[in-house]
Formats: sequence, C-alpha cells, structure tokens
Amino acid sequence: MGYGHLDRPAQFLKGVGPKRADLLKKLSIGTARDLLHHLPRRYDDASTITPIAGLDSGMEVTVRGRVRSCGVIQTRSSLRVFQAVLQDESGMITCAWPGQPWLERKIREGDQLLATGTVRFYHGRQLHPREFSLLARKGRRGDAEEGTPEGTIFVSYPATEELPQWILRRIYEENLDWLLEHAPEEEYLPDTLRERLGLVGLGEAFRRLHRPTSLEEPEEGRRRLAFDELFFLQLVQGLVRHRESVREPGIEHRRTNRIVKPLHDALPFALTGAQARVLREILDDMTSTRRMNRFLQGDVGSGKTLVALFAMAVAVEGGHQAALMAPTELLAEQHALRLRERFEPLEVPVALLTGSVTGRAREELLEGLREGRTPLVVGTHALIQEGVDFARLGLVVVDEQHRFGVRQRMALGEGRRGPKPDVLIMSATPIPRSLALVLYGELDLSILDELPPGRSPVRTLLRRPADRAEIHAGIERELAAGRQAYLVYPLVEESEKVDLRAATGEFERLRDEVFPGRRLGLLHGQLPSEEKDRVMRAFRDGELDLLVATTVIEVGIDVPNATVMVIEHAERFGLSQLHQLRGRVGRGAERAWCVLVSELAGAARERLEIFAGTTDGFEIAREDLRIRGQGDLFGDRQHGRDPHLRFADLARDEELVLMARDLARTVVDRDPELERSEHAPLRELLETRHAERFRMWKVG
Ligand code: ADP
Ligand code: MG
Repeated sequence: MGYGHLDRPAQFLKGVGPKRADLLKKLSIGTARDLLHHLPRRYDDASTITPIAGLDSGMEVTVRGRVRSCGVIQTRSSLRVFQAVLQDESGMITCAWPGQPWLERKIREGDQLLATGTVRFYHGRQLHPREFSLLARKGRRGDAEEGTPEGTIFVSYPATEELPQWILRRIYEENLDWLLEHAPEEEYLPDTLRERLGLVGLGEAFRRLHRPTSLEEPEEGRRRLAFDELFFLQLVQGLVRHRESVREPGIEHRRTNRIVKPLHDALPFALTGAQARVLREILDDMTSTRRMNRFLQGDVGSGKTLVALFAMAVAVEGGHQAALMAPTELLAEQHALRLRERFEPLEVPVALLTGSVTGRAREELLEGLREGRTPLVVGTHALIQEGVDFARLGLVVVDEQHRFGVRQRMALGEGRRGPKPDVLIMSATPIPRSLALVLYGELDLSILDELPPGRSPVRTLLRRPADRAEIHAGIERELAAGRQAYLVYPLVEESEKVDLRAATGEFERLRDEVFPGRRLGLLHGQLPSEEKDRVMRAFRDGELDLLVATTVIEVGIDVPNATVMVIEHAERFGLSQLHQLRGRVGRGAERAWCVLVSELAGAARERLEIFAGTTDGFEIAREDLRIRGQGDLFGDRQHGRDPHLRFADLARDEELVLMARDLARTVVDRDPELERSEHAPLRELLETRHAERFRMWKVG
C-alpha cells in the first residue's frame, strides 16, 4: 500500500488549494481519507416533494421548481436578502435567504431548484430554505427539465463559518467519484467474510454515507465503519493481551477441595446459576497456566463477594496467598468481617491491613505475609505500599475497580520474579456489555446477571417538593420502628459552595425542627476523611438514625437496618448514580423504600419513571448510556481510556462490538504476531492508519 491515494493531502484535491486546505484542517481534514471519514451531521429526505400550492405557514417541506426571477433586496434593517421566486405546476412561492446576498452568484433565473425549509408568513407565504440543491440549469445542454429529484437525499456536514456547507458540498461533489474509486484500496475483509458478517464493502460504505439514495443507506455505511473502529480497537487489545500472557505466565492453581468443599457445605443456600457459571470461568483461568485478568461485574447484592471468596479458597488450598483490596477502611473492615465468618471455622486466619494498623501489630502482620504464615489478607491501599511483601501471592481481588487506577491494580504482585498472581476485579457499577468490552478489552469479562432468590425489590416512589411533609412523616414512621434512613442532596461542582450551604442549612432545620428527637448525622465531601469515616461508622453501628449526605454514600457499605433512601433534586443525578444510591437500602429482611424528590417535568420525569420502573442495574446502565451518550461515559480520561469512537455508538452497537471481538479473537488466536500473508493488509493498516495503537502493541 505504502503512500496510498487516500494519503493525498487535501490541498491537492479538486477545488481545494492551500487556503481551503487550511480551513479544512479546522475540521480535522488533512487528507483525502479524512474527507471520506468526515461524518455527515444530518440527512434530509427530499423524496417527498410538496406541491407549492399546498404550502402553509409553519410547514416543513421540500419543494421543486423553476426560478422565475431572483435578486438581492435590501430590508429596512439593512439586511441583504437574496430572494428567488420558485414555480412548479401548481403555483409560486418566494424563497428568501436573509444575509446571503452571495447566492446571487449561484442561483440564476431558469434554474431548477430543490429546496428544503420552513414556510413562514411574511408579506405572503415565504420559504426559508435551510438546504437547497441546484438540479439543473438552462444552458449549453438545452433546457434540462429532466432533473429527477426522486430519492434525492440532502447530506449536511459539520461545517465552519469560513467553510460553509455549500463549499464543503461542492468539494464532495467534485471529489467523491475519485475518492470512492480508491476507498476499496484499504479493504482488509475478504468478500466472503464480509458478506457473512452482513457488512458492505468499504467503497460502498462511503458511497452510502456521502451519496445515499435512501434514508436507510447511511446507517449501513456507518455500521461498516463502526465495525472497523471496534475491530481495530479490540484487535490491538487482543494482541497486547496475548503478548502479556506469553511474557507473564500465570500460576497453575491446584485444587484439593480441602477448603472449598467444607466452605460450600456450610453455605445455607445454593449458588445462583450465574454464580456457578462465573465461578467456573474464574476457576478455569486460575487452574490454567495463563495469568487471570478478569473483570467481574454484577449488581449490588448479586453475590460477587461470595464468588471471590471461593476463588480465594482455591488459591489458599493450593498453597498460595490471596489478597482482597477495598477502596476504604470501612469497606475493608466489612469484607474482613465477612471473610472471617466463613474462613475462621475452617482455621484459615484472615488479616486486616489498613492505614490504622501501625507499630508492632503492623510489623507482625507484614512478617506473616512475608513468611507465608498468613494465607488471607484484606486491606486498603496500604496493601500496595512499600514494604508489603508476600511469600506466595497467588490471587489478588480488587473491589470497586473504578476507584483504583489501572496502575494501582497492577502494582500488587508486580516487581517480583516468577509467575504473577491472578487478578480478579469486581465492580458493582453495572455498565453495558458493549461499553465494558471496549473500555476493559484487555480483561476477560464475567457478568453476574441474576440476583439470589427471595429479595424483595426496593419500592421506588416519585414525589414533588411540595410533598415534603408526607415524606418526612414516612421517614419518621420507619425511625419509630427502629430503622434508619438516608437523605441525599446533590452537590454540583460549579455551585458547590451554594449547595453545601443549602444542605447544611437543611440539615440544621431537619435536626432542630423536623426530627428533634432523633440522632442526625451530616456527611459531605469537604469533611476530612477521618471525620467522614467516623460519621459512616456511627451510622453503621446504629448510633445515628438519619444520615444527611451530600456526597455519594460509601459505595458498597452495608447497613441492613437502613430502609429508606430519600433523594432530593433527583433529576440532577445520572441514572447509574441513582441506582448506586438506591442500592444502599434493601439489604436486610425489611421492606425498603426509595423516594425521588423532583419537580418532575417532561423528559426529566420520563427518565425518573424509567428508573422507578426497574431495579435491573444493567437495564438502567443501558438507558443511561442511551440518554447521556457515550461521551460522558468516557469521563475516565485519567485512566487513559478514551477510545476515540467516531462511528460506533455503544448504546446501539452491542452486536457489532461482539462481532468485531469475535473476529479480533480469531485473528489473534491464529496469528498473534500478524505474520501470515493473509494478514499483511491488516498489519499494514495497523502500522499506518493506527500507528498509535501499533506502537502500543509493539513497544507497550
Ligand atoms: P455483592 O458483593 O455482589 O454485593 P454479596 O456477595 O455481598 O453481593 O451478597 C449479598 C448478600 O447475598 C450476602 O448477604 C450474601 O450472603 C447473600 N448471597 C450471596 N449469594 C447468595 C445465594 N446464591 N443465595 C442466597 N443468598 C446469597
Ligand atoms: Mg492461572
């Protein structure tokens, strides 16, 4: 391929030149290829033409007609308006383009025009075209009456002031034939495979995108290009993963059932189908020579911790140590408590290492880990600090992955010779499968999509601020029955001070006037972390009845006695955030409530209704993705996770993500160094078109 046609600098395209090339750069168009990849912003269907006689004010129409007369008029406000009177078989209408006198040079008497826009009433009916196209012009080739507009689709591009739509379109008109002729040079999919995947060829994809003959065609073009994006992304992830597995073999854990069996026998319930499946996936990884790098997703309460517990048991019975890392001291304590309940009867000790463990106790703990006497340890970041060393660390479980950077996660078990420990990352923040695959493609994915039986779902109610008295009465009823409640206020960054003042004021009012006999606590982001910990602990231990919070309450914290969650200004939270908050209640046997307080107007209400109607975290995450778009979800920039997707839309392309992943896997399994001749085009595309990713693979 080398220096292909599509690498031609935009400057040398027809109708461009150095000046326009500079303007194109502002649209990130530097080469012929970039022009092909410039994604149209909208498509208008001109295949339904309205007869001019039938036009009425307010209508959005497309008309076709001949220009009877035209010219620039000057209005009183000194705005120059280009006007053209358009006539078809049924009648006439004036088309007006305020502020575009230069159209004088473009549109002439006798031209056949197709115009799309809104009909206004302004000294009679007027059409204000937002789009038009010159179908035919009287002239050399005679009276070109034939310009058939059937099926004409207007393509509009993202443009700039200096490089307006009509110039861009002209550039496309003049160059598209040539571009489409050369587009297939970068085809890497053999026809049979491409057809099996149901994708159009590259040339055809760009034709459908830039010169569609129906409103359905652009989508087919987009799908093809989205597939390419998702394929190259996942191909590199797969290549990197393969290389790492070669460089860093894992531990082959041996199963003896010495611990797993009694652990299993002691369970008062059966594993859910999803738990059994996921556990099998994990154990297959652990007992293979491959290093496990697995991401376990599951809704709050789906039983992730229990699965992790079995994985740790396997590591320990095979003679290794296992570590569980949690984002806060409180969560680490909670985990330690639960692990001890299950492991200590089997005489497997569990250590707890946090920042609060100091002095002599810390020395002894570290020695136990270093000499291999301590098989299980739970901790915070303290686990990855200098001086913490393991004799035979075989498994690392990381809870609530999004709080840790990728680097921190990998730090456990690095810098040591020999096979690296297996890694299992758990997250209780469901994200759609498509997003998980793209964001965490270098990991294997396990999903717990089933809750243990017998949970009564949290009931969710929508209320208005005016209903506050009723809400407070509801809280009071629960408190009187000995339960606890949360009340959450949003804290928006830009107005943090104002919000904090509001929440603090509200807290004082609630404490002094609404619930004078109750014990209230306030939790907000500006408290020092020891203070936050102290308040959370007091709530957990039942020393507080009502917790007023402006920060998202500790993810994963378990206070089974809390039965009410009231969320003020619910419309200000994302759906996934609301889901996290709601997950704080309903953890005990008692029936739990979640009350969303909001003015409830229009789209905001609809969103909240969707939320109130389901407790399925994955469904909510999909909805959130659909509503907010994927841009927001890549807010993970500090983790270097911005996959730059231009064509792919993760809210609807899950199937494409999976197809692309399967193909990427097939290629990597068969040819992990891309050495085979049939993969030469792929390799070349990687090297040239995806240079950054290519380096990641080669050097990374
Ligand atoms: P997660 O970590 O996903 O939030 P946990 O593992 O903490 O979920 O489980 C939540 C609760 O459900 C715990 O009290 C746990 O003992 C219980 N549990 C887990 N698995 C099952 C099951 N298969 N059947 C019944 N209860 C279960
Ligand atoms: Mg292994």
